[in-house]
Parts: sequence; structure tokens; C-alpha cells
Amino acid sequence: MDKKADQRCVFCEIVRGQAPAHLIYEDELSLGILDINPFTEGHSLVIPKRHVPWWHDLTEEENESLFRVARIIARKLMKAFAPEFVCLYARGRRIPHTHIFLIPTKSGDFLDRFFNDLEKVQESAVELAKLRDPAALAAAALKLKGTEKA
Ligand SMILES: [Zn+2]
Repeated sequence: MDKKADQRCVFCEIVRGQAPAHLIYEDELSLGILDINPFTEGHSLVIPKRHVPWWHDLTEEENESLFRVARIIARKLMKAFAPEFVCLYARGRRIPHTHIFLIPTKSGDFLDRFFNDLEKVQESAVELAKLRDPAALAAAALKLKGTEKA
């Protein structure tokens, strides 16, 4: 990644200690912090210390570290807040530095309602119905099986 992108990135600033954050846990390659706009109490983020926009471009070691730290923090969240479980997802479009969301969740909370609503959209959208077609699913599986191992 080029230097300019690193310098403008808030997560890189946190890694360098140039921006404030509530640090929960870290190892040599990853950092776990509280999200400053939480969906639920304890909502955390795990980021690699290196500026990498998409999680699938991490090295094997960074990937292992990221998910190891995610599990450590998820277990801390379970202990501290006793949710039903900890939801995990990675996005990264708003801040292009890989980050895993760890969100303690329970039935009926904000995140639960969001994913329930998402499923309603999935069931009704015409464009998505085409993807459910058995032939379309078989074609997608064939495409995936055909791709070489990265
Ligand atoms: Zn960054």
C-alpha cells in the first residue's frame, strides 16, 4: 500500500499511537479495539497492524493472527456482557483497512433486526431470485471449483 493511504488511514494512526482508541487486546500482527460507534455494548473491531484494504489480501500469518485475536476478544465479550453469541463480519468499504466487526448480539437487538430485515430482502428481490435458480447455483459452484487455489 502506498504511504499516502497509510497516513490518511485512521486505523493506521491508531496502530502508530497517533489516534486514541480503547485497546482490548493485541499481538504482534493484530489489534483489538472498541468501535467508537457501537451497535451494542462491547462492539469491537480487530484490525491488522499493516494497512491492507481487504481481508483476503492478508498474509497467512496476518490472517491467523486476526482470527485468533477475534476469538480471544469474542470470548472476553461473552464473559463481560453475556450476549447470546458474538456476530463476526468483515466489510471495510467505509474505512479501507481490513477490520473485523465483533458484535455481541441477542434476539431482537439492533443487529438481529438488521439481519432479519436483510433476509426479507433476500427472499423477495427479483434479481436475487435468479441467483437461487438451481442451474445458477450449479454454474456458480462450477466457477468456484474451477478457480485455482490462491
Ligand atoms: Zn490503514
